[in-house]
Amino acid sequence: MFPRVILKGTMIKKSQQKRRTSPCNYKERFFVLDTQDLKYSERRPGKKPTLKGCIALSRIKCVEIVCSDVPIPCSYKYPFQVFHDNHYLYIFAPDNDCRQRWVKALKEETKFNNLVVKYHPNFWMDGRWKCCHQTEKLASGCNEYDPMGYASKGPLPQIPEPQEVDIHDPGQRVVVALRDYTPTGDNDLPLHKDQEYILTDTSHAEWWTVQDNMGYVGFVPSTYVAEKSATNFDKFEWYNKDICRGEAEELLMREAKEGAFMVRDSRQAGVYTVSVFTKAPGSNGEKNPRVKHYQIRETNTEDFYLAEKYLFPTIPELIRYHQHNAAGLITRLRHPISQDRVWLRGSSKKKWEVSPTELSLGQEVGSGQFGLVLEGRWRDRKVAVKMVKAGAMSEEEFIEEARVMMSLSHCKLVQLYGVCTQVTQDCPLCLLFEFMDNGCLSDFLRDKRGRLSQVSMLGMCLDVSEGMAYLERNKFIHRDLAARNCLVSKNNEVKVSDFGMTRYVLDDQYTSSHGSKFPVKWSSPEVIKYSRFSSKSDVWSFGVFMWEVYSEGHLPYEHRSNGQVVESLNAGLRLLKPRSAPEPVHLLMERCWKEKPEDRPPFAVLLHELASLSDL
Ligand code: ADP
Repeated sequence: MFPRVILKGTMIKKSQQKRRTSPCNYKERFFVLDTQDLKYSERRPGKKPTLKGCIALSRIKCVEIVCSDVPIPCSYKYPFQVFHDNHYLYIFAPDNDCRQRWVKALKEETKFNNLVVKYHPNFWMDGRWKCCHQTEKLASGCNEYDPMGYASKGPLPQIPEPQEVDIHDPGQRVVVALRDYTPTGDNDLPLHKDQEYILTDTSHAEWWTVQDNMGYVGFVPSTYVAEKSATNFDKFEWYNKDICRGEAEELLMREAKEGAFMVRDSRQAGVYTVSVFTKAPGSNGEKNPRVKHYQIRETNTEDFYLAEKYLFPTIPELIRYHQHNAAGLITRLRHPISQDRVWLRGSSKKKWEVSPTELSLGQEVGSGQFGLVLEGRWRDRKVAVKMVKAGAMSEEEFIEEARVMMSLSHCKLVQLYGVCTQVTQDCPLCLLFEFMDNGCLSDFLRDKRGRLSQVSMLGMCLDVSEGMAYLERNKFIHRDLAARNCLVSKNNEVKVSDFGMTRYVLDDQYTSSHGSKFPVKWSSPEVIKYSRFSSKSDVWSFGVFMWEVYSEGHLPYEHRSNGQVVESLNAGLRLLKPRSAPEPVHLLMERCWKEKPEDRPPFAVLLHELASLSDL
């Protein structure tokens, strides 16, 4: 007979912390109680649900609500416990009714089990029971267990207000996500624009550690978040610090989009003004189009407002609200206009902007995905200028990231110096890089075929592993490591180039793993199958890079199509040892091509092992 479903629904489950050191986290799960088991699974939009746990009802010894006044760091605030085998499962329901329904149903289904006599009404936390302070997790309970008593006896436990308790602790530093972030490494945390996170570590300049409202902790790019405080909103895209009324009007009129807006400093110190462009007819016959200015006012309870009725504790919250609601304004705040955008249009306020007058262009040295590459001179320096042709690059996204890319600086990376706009009519943007006299490595290898020494081949691998270890330390994923994306300097040093750039290519044939230009032959199985990029997928590509070096510039799987390559990878086959590769180097390549990313060595290890080979 099939089991009959009794209850189902989404609740949050706390990890069981079977080991004392395992992290404590909270996960949303879809629970199903039937006449045999309590099951829970993970449901993600567009994905098949995956069963994460199944507890036979016969193994349950106690089900009861948890009475506690400890702040609950997840969004569902109504906990109950299921004690089974020797484990306590804590489940958080979204409201009290829901919790009562589940406790009642579970008690009903388990009432004839071998139950405990006494139970713990409070949580097991930090190595002790909060109710009786016993430090043995399996110590018998301190309160009598009533298997039939599911209606609340006596007053209900004090339930904290349904708010993110930890996020509002005044001692915490809180940040707001300025934009979405999709994790690029195992230890990253996804960000959702406008959501708040607790800032837990800022010791690394580019990668901060934050905690979300479910208790998950991970790295995020520091430029993607801004500290939430009443007046520190330098990083918000709508804030323009040094713009006066006239400049604001000029910029917004130039943008000429309904709802284009910015927040700027008022002439009065410590006061801010919202300037917004509109074409809407004014009640007193004002002429269109125009820019309206609203001063942000503060009440004596330190709340901010633009239109009297709508008060907010911080300016970012006020702006966020008015981005969705006009609520007294002439229009809602639709399009933030920032200095970054201004800069893109040719103003010169950012330090990474290179003025076209400082740049002189010389002869063509190559051409690539984004367009021509020219030799150039900038401030007495020889530079390579990538002329980005219109429609080839997602420029605004690149500019958002340019700040991170420019901060990456290592002697084995080709340095990005800056960006320049409006150089020529048909090139809206160009990128200035360190000039590499001996061009791209794949051509260099072919030119020198038959004349390369073991020392120089190993040296090339070492150079690139050094650059990649730096990117790995900085949690930056290359995504397209190959000999063609490494360049050779005047003194034959090899440097890694084009890191992260594929994200800005506007060409499906290049970016989709089914596209004809996608670098399948350099890609790991998880990238080909799920586009799952990580430093470990870079390690796979590095294995292929070493193969290219030791085969002196031959193309990997030279006479095979991408489809055939995928088939042979699936069958467990790998590139064969190039003739010039010594066995220890070939073994390193094979370690880079392990099926599971976690079995591949990190760059820090590869660098170390290559260095020890060069000592031999
Ligand atoms: P894209 O990123 O647009 O695909 P590439 O990086 O492949 O362009 O560059 C195309 C060619 O331009 C390279 O093969 C190389 O010959 C030349 N090149 C690119 N960057 C530099 C540089 N920094 N110094 C010297 N030459 C370069």
